[in-house]
Amino acid sequence: MTTAVLFNLPGAAGHINPTVGLVSELLARGERVIYYAGDDSRQQFEALGATFRTYSPFFEYQHSAAVAKDLGTAAFMMIDQAECALSGLIEAMEKDKPDYILYDSCCMFGKYIAQRLGIPGICLVTTIVSSPLLLMSDPALLGKVIIDVLAISPRVLEARRRLIDLLSSVGLKYRNIIHHSFDLFLNEGDLNIVFLGTASQPMPRLLNKRFKLVGASIPEGRDPPMEFPAGWGSTHPLVYVSLGTVHNLKHDFYLNCLEAFADLPFKVIMSVGKHVDITSLGCIPANFMVRNRVPQLEVLKRAQVFVSHGGMNSINESTYFGVPLVMVPQQFEQAFNARRICRQGAGLLLKCTKVTPKALRNAVQTILADARCKANTDRLSRDIRSLGGQRQAASHRLGHGRERG
Ligand code: UDP
Repeated sequence: MTTAVLFNLPGAAGHINPTVGLVSELLARGERVIYYAGDDSRQQFEALGATFRTYSPFFEYQHSAAVAKDLGTAAFMMIDQAECALSGLIEAMEKDKPDYILYDSCCMFGKYIAQRLGIPGICLVTTIVSSPLLLMSDPALLGKVIIDVLAISPRVLEARRRLIDLLSSVGLKYRNIIHHSFDLFLNEGDLNIVFLGTASQPMPRLLNKRFKLVGASIPEGRDPPMEFPAGWGSTHPLVYVSLGTVHNLKHDFYLNCLEAFADLPFKVIMSVGKHVDITSLGCIPANFMVRNRVPQLEVLKRAQVFVSHGGMNSINESTYFGVPLVMVPQQFEQAFNARRICRQGAGLLLKCTKVTPKALRNAVQTILADARCKANTDRLSRDIRSLGGQRQAASHRLGHGRERG
């Protein structure tokens, strides 16, 4: 039996959700999967039939907005994790004897483990694939990257020294693995499965053939079923509001939404994240349902507009179901995603500093009245569905196994 080990980032729903369908596919094709993430994912993957492990005792980690705020913080988080876990995980792998490693692009140690064991390493990418050339497509993102790079430049030598020491401690050579500073973020594998549609990835034709775009991974049954009040999403248009799972402690934003959409002729489902106390939002209008978390795929099947932060998964899932977006980005990468969706005519962007009840109401009403925007979103839906999602991801992996003989 073929054994796969998958390393993911604990608590990062945006990195974990796209792998649910892939793991189901691999299990259905007779493979054994050992999945590493945080304890909050255990039940979901054990229910699928995977063996589940946390990174304890090597490191404890819970994904948060603080880590995602700039490239330097993210880079040092990855180096810290790699230093804590690399030799221990290699020892564990020598017992498990996996045939190949799947690793999220933020788990750089997954790549190093595959190299050390001499087995294929498959990188799972849930954000845009970036390189200096691809960044040229968006001056605002390029500007942010330059600022971040300048900010970490005093620590570049420290990062390089730590990685040289770490890699040599397990018999690997830095110069064979890291060729330029972008490799720290890319962590390119023998095969790279990118959970994006062609419209989301800048210049997809410039990616080398080891990168495979598979679109969104939307397995049936990923989310539990949800009871909707009668008529929500059928006789009454349904607006869905969520800022995702990381940048969601935004009390004022939720209050703005309550004021913007109260008493309008549509229904609103608002997911506020697990840390917001719903009673602190005051009186909830009758056309609202407010929850700490909802089964997003189930909601999007019925929604007409998604008011979103523009996280990559939310954009994938929304366009998959043909739901146009009003995007209020909370972070630079989300702003980049939002600009691409706007250029495709599938949504509108509101700067978070410019959010008012009136601006939100106007944006949602504009989208609801705009048949062209819906048609553009449907075009993106056809593109993203045509890429094959989790099934295609599993087929790429099997094809890759055959290529390597
Ligand atoms: N999600 C969900 N229910 C919620 C909020 C979010 O199922 O109430 C899921 C959503 O379907 C998506 C993920 O959480 O798969 C959020 O990922 P995204 O990349 O959009 O944003 P992040 O949380 O990483 O900022």
